[in-house]
Amino acid sequence: MSFFAKKCDRCGERTRNEADGKPVCDACVREMELLLDAADENIRQCPVDNSPMTKEIAHMVLVDRCPTCQGIWLDGGELEKLSDDVHADAVLAMTRGLTMGMH
Ligand SMILES: [Zn+2]
Ligand SMILES: [Zn+2]
Repeated sequence: MSFFAKKCDRCGERTRNEADGKPVCDACVREMELLLDAADENIRQCPVDNSPMTKEIAHMVLVDRCPTCQGIWLDGGELEKLSDDVHADAVLAMTRGLTMGMH
């Protein structure tokens, strides 16, 4: 019921979901979980310029973004998750400088 809907603390989406007493939508909960996972992962270096990359969530997939060349880098498994969810064009637009770690 919309009567109960609050706005998500992170993105402003209407939601009845709450986390830590704050309204947070399902998508943002998932994102935060991914970011928690990311905190456990090692920081990777950009294969192009060796800059330490930052973890980011794009289309609900954890990616490494290089602050120097703006390249986005994915694992092979992460790419598969993306392909299921988003249109191929969006993947191409987003993954300029893509590499696939197959192993
Ligand atoms: Zn949200
Ligand atoms: Zn780079």
